[in-house]
Amino acid sequence: MNQCPLCNDTSAYIERSESIHIECRTCGIYKLNRKAFDDLPTEHRLQPNLFKVSIYNMFRTVRNLPIMTYFINDDLSQITPRATLAEIIEQFPTHVSNRADRVLLTLSIKSKFAGHRLRLLNQIKDHPY
Ligand SMILES: [Zn+2]
Repeated sequence: MNQCPLCNDTSAYIERSESIHIECRTCGIYKLNRKAFDDLPTEHRLQPNLFKVSIYNMFRTVRNLPIMTYFINDDLSQITPRATLAEIIEQFPTHVSNRADRVLLTLSIKSKFAGHRLRLLNQIKDHPY
């Protein structure tokens, strides 16, 4: 099954190797270490906040930043960039002005020219980050 572990979209592309490479239209491109991929469905304290990781990661993807590898518990490997899911959830912006900055930056990246119309196809999945 190609279900994104962050948003549960079933059209994600998932490639399994040493780490799990995931490409999702909602969450962008990211990796999970194998343990995080296997254990995430039972991580009930993380599940309600995974949308924050989805938003954070899509923000990275649209800015063409290096692919992030996420862990549940950091294994102190040499993989970079990396973060635990809890770290991303904790640093999620809570102030409206911080989120507004991200929305404007993302819309400017996605706009090909001034006045370009962007269509949001799904109000839930096509979040403006
Ligand atoms: Zn996703």
